[in-house]
Amino acid sequence: MTKISIDLKKAELVPNDLIIGIDLGTTNSLVAVCKGDNRNPVCLDGASGVIVPSVVYLGTEQMLVGNAAKEFLVHEPERTIYSVKRLLGRSYKDLRDRNAYFGYRIVEDEQGEHVRIESQGTYYSPVELSAAILSEIKLRAEKALGTSIRKAVITVPAYFDDLQRQATREAGKLAGLDVMRILNEPTAASLAYGLGQSPAQNRMIAVYDFGGGTFDVSILRLEGGVFEVLATRGDTWLGGDDIDRAIVDFWLQLMPEAAQHMKKKAHMQQLRLFAEEAKIMLSDGTAKHYLREDQLDGVSLKLSLSNTDLEQLCTPILDKTINIASQALHDAGIKTEQIHEVVLVGGSTRLNLVKDKVRQFFSGVHVNDSLNPDEVVALGAAVEADILAGNRRDILLLDVTPLSLGIETLGGLMDTLIPRNSRIPSSASRQYTTSVDGQVNMEISVFQGERELCAQNRKLASFQLKGIPAMPAGLPKIEVRFLVDADGILKVGARELRSGIAQEISVHYQKDLNDKAVEDMLLDSLNNAKSDIETRLMIEAQTEARQLCYTAKRFLEKNHQLLTPEEHHKTLELCGELETLCSEEDKDAILASMERLNDYTRPFAERLMDEAVGAALKGKKL
Ligand code: AMP
Repeated sequence: MTKISIDLKKAELVPNDLIIGIDLGTTNSLVAVCKGDNRNPVCLDGASGVIVPSVVYLGTEQMLVGNAAKEFLVHEPERTIYSVKRLLGRSYKDLRDRNAYFGYRIVEDEQGEHVRIESQGTYYSPVELSAAILSEIKLRAEKALGTSIRKAVITVPAYFDDLQRQATREAGKLAGLDVMRILNEPTAASLAYGLGQSPAQNRMIAVYDFGGGTFDVSILRLEGGVFEVLATRGDTWLGGDDIDRAIVDFWLQLMPEAAQHMKKKAHMQQLRLFAEEAKIMLSDGTAKHYLREDQLDGVSLKLSLSNTDLEQLCTPILDKTINIASQALHDAGIKTEQIHEVVLVGGSTRLNLVKDKVRQFFSGVHVNDSLNPDEVVALGAAVEADILAGNRRDILLLDVTPLSLGIETLGGLMDTLIPRNSRIPSSASRQYTTSVDGQVNMEISVFQGERELCAQNRKLASFQLKGIPAMPAGLPKIEVRFLVDADGILKVGARELRSGIAQEISVHYQKDLNDKAVEDMLLDSLNNAKSDIETRLMIEAQTEARQLCYTAKRFLEKNHQLLTPEEHHKTLELCGELETLCSEEDKDAILASMERLNDYTRPFAERLMDEAVGAALKGKKL
């Protein structure tokens, strides 16, 4: 039976597959849809505009979301949850160093895997609180459109890892939404600008997205109406919030006495709001000076900030963003002069200082800031939703993986299946085998990162393929398959091809590294590239040598009748020599010793072949 929805306000038929686009932001969230014959995206209005502050107030009686919740930020910070997006899919360990940033209490769950928010003796998960924001947004969209909503596209920063994406998806589900796609914010932004929709348009675009809590740069190539993300880089701990904090720190340094009284979280919260007020006032360059005299719990404050102060405080932060932009260009193999257009996204790009820095870096390139930087991502999410609803068949989306994905092989080496910056959705499979006779279990450990040794990469998960039929080493064929779906979620499967036994990953993330460390991994891989390759070659030689000794000794055990006692003795001697060399770090000596062992034992293998052929002929009836 086909169901038809009717917009009761406008008495219009609404397509069944109405999908909304949601920008679930660190600071603010917005919702948009595409409407009318021209399918233009528009943000949906609520009583206080299009923006829903991503803030949840955990009251005794009820939970409040948005502007109503924001009111409590200063006076009840321990109950007023902001920046919950920073907690999504994170463990307490990831956030331990950032504890001071939160005005409320974050704790570890029993398993030590996820962070919880504690308020008045009740524990909340970041997924629950994000779901509260999404429910509010769903409600707003339903009110504005006069119909019930079930489907949504939700955006995330390009740097979100699999667990953070999954947590976002769960939050959507909890809010009663079928999440059709988790979309990278820079990709959404480019869609909002309508780029790539004309087949004649060939362009290289840099999307510079500087929001409240996250920063991303993506390099996009538009060709023949198709756009492709060539590279994406970001920092999930860099945003306008950092500017606010820098201003607060600046003020506290200037008034050491007042700073003594500023220990309470409520005070710090109030200062943070004043800092944001100062930043916004000075942002477009028309005002020269911010001055505020106020009282906080009887302590008088004189808060002053000049344009020059702001510039000085912003410079290190903005330099970081430019560094990241330059790394993204490097990843994409593109020079600044090859970029045709820069797109600015995120509330912090309203700062003239930001625009100037970006213009300076992409000198001569047109910097496009024509759309409202707060709305761009939601508008793009609505365009993507419209594509998924089947209303625009002319656009193809391609995205990339931020870090390489692979498994651990013998000697602790990283074997990459899906390299960094691979287009997604993407899949790859590779065959492996056992290293010991009769081996019935195989450990599959999944890592993310750029180093040659798994120990220096990030372990995502591990599982055992159990019940491999006992066979000589090297015979089982085990296919490991990686699939990164369109949402950037990784699924790993392993299958022994002869017996058909298979195992899908049971995802267990070991998240001992924080975001900063993950980013450091990228830098480390560049800095250590030469020594890493040497280590890899060394380990490969040692592994191959050990395997050769193992095979040679097994040969001796099984085929002693083919060898004279001298040959037997000499083979063992050569194996002994090779095994000793394996514990040393001289690759050339290992390779030379392997060659000696190979040369010496080659005739034995030929003898075995002759014997096998002879036996086969004997059995044959002519
Ligand atoms: P978003 O995450 O994109 O919603 O951006 C929010 C950030 O933009 C917050 O850090 C705001 O303080 C900042 N912001 C909003 N308006 C302005 C403005 N006019 N000048 C500077 N920063 C702004």
